[in-house]
Amino acid sequence: MHKKTLLVKNAELLVTMDDERREIRKGSLIVEGNRIVAVGGRELLSAGVDEELDLRGHVVIPGLINTHHHMFQSLTRAIPAAQDGELFNWLQQLYPIWARLTPEMIHISTQTAMAELMLSGCTTASDHLYVYPNGCRLDDSIEAAREIGMRFHACRGSMSVGRSKGGLPPDELVESENAILEDSRRLIESYHDAGRYSMLRIALAPCSPFSVSRELMQKTARLARQYGVSLHTHLAENDNDIRYSQERFGMTPAQYAEDLGWVGADVWHAHCVKLDEAGIALFARTGTGVAHCPCSNMRLASGIAPVRAMLDAGVKVGLGVDGSASNDAGSMIGEVRQAMLLQRVGFGPDAMTARQALELATRGSAAVLNRDDIGAIAPGMAADFVAFDLNRLSLAGARHDPLAALVFCNPGEVAYSVINGRVVIRNGEIQTVRLPEVIEKHNRLACLLTHPELL
Ligand SMILES: [Zn+2]
Repeated sequence: MHKKTLLVKNAELLVTMDDERREIRKGSLIVEGNRIVAVGGRELLSAGVDEELDLRGHVVIPGLINTHHHMFQSLTRAIPAAQDGELFNWLQQLYPIWARLTPEMIHISTQTAMAELMLSGCTTASDHLYVYPNGCRLDDSIEAAREIGMRFHACRGSMSVGRSKGGLPPDELVESENAILEDSRRLIESYHDAGRYSMLRIALAPCSPFSVSRELMQKTARLARQYGVSLHTHLAENDNDIRYSQERFGMTPAQYAEDLGWVGADVWHAHCVKLDEAGIALFARTGTGVAHCPCSNMRLASGIAPVRAMLDAGVKVGLGVDGSASNDAGSMIGEVRQAMLLQRVGFGPDAMTARQALELATRGSAAVLNRDDIGAIAPGMAADFVAFDLNRLSLAGARHDPLAALVFCNPGEVAYSVINGRVVIRNGEIQTVRLPEVIEKHNRLACLLTHPELL
């Protein structure tokens, strides 16, 4: 069968993030089906192809990869009672609202969050759904991702220890551990695609040490390893999180993770703001990944994750925007900028360069999700890349270094996005869903959830 071919040409700068970190002026690339088959300059222009995309005046980068999100939270942004608290207090304001979520709300909020991510340069996203009230299922997110055309790592989150048993969430929001494990198995068997260029993988993701039991963490790890799927949770997010771990388990979060078998190349932990030196060494030694979420860490005043120290020690670090109720902007390229700036606030002006920050969101995130087929523009990689228009007011004057301009300045939304060989954004317009209708429906459901009296 003939696979459709696409030539991307004349990119003012093609940032490959390949093994040599090549940056090609007047760059070109050729896509066949869903993968990249050639990368170079003018020598590719004579290839006979089905479609050409002339990207003069644009910078092309690998599609950004979001390693941590809670897309349902797009329905509960900037909730007044949760605007100014730290993590535990913020959660307690939001749990009762999330208890009213419906399957339709999960579907529309996932699509809203994905549209926002895609327009900000993201082509692969992980989502961590950990509340399942009123018949909500992870299937609702999976269907939304398929419709919009985003590469997706769907995390089956869970909470099983409610307030009456010493956990943080209200009892009505937790599930039985048997039901969680049974549903995890169902999802893996129904959806998980382990193959190269996979558009959908399942990961198992108990929410956090303060909302599930030690037994569920262990059983989940056993189940994940039986099927070869990844494990994900929140870890060492702030001082209260550390205190809970010491009081309840008599260990630091890193020691607890090791004790549970929650370290290894198939595990990634969100935040790790308070990961200590021993924890950093443990993560480096075991290949355990970190999803760094700088905006959320600032928003909740959790602290500054020691990303520089993690990278120096050899820890795999990727970027995540985190849930839309603690960011509350879901901009992936914006997160790259914040990652660079926050390391500088914490550790000095040379703690992170623009190129290192962009690498976190591409190669770094790919490694965290345990993938070697995304995160770079190179032959044999998935055809996931985006283009930003350099002729924008907010980039004026930085044309000499288009890559740095994307990180230091405000590049706005992408002009083009290609995911799995398919042009999903063209001239700044999402091609796969009707965005105004998505926004209208999202706002109506958000209002129904948070302020029904206004409808
Ligand atoms: Zn989170």
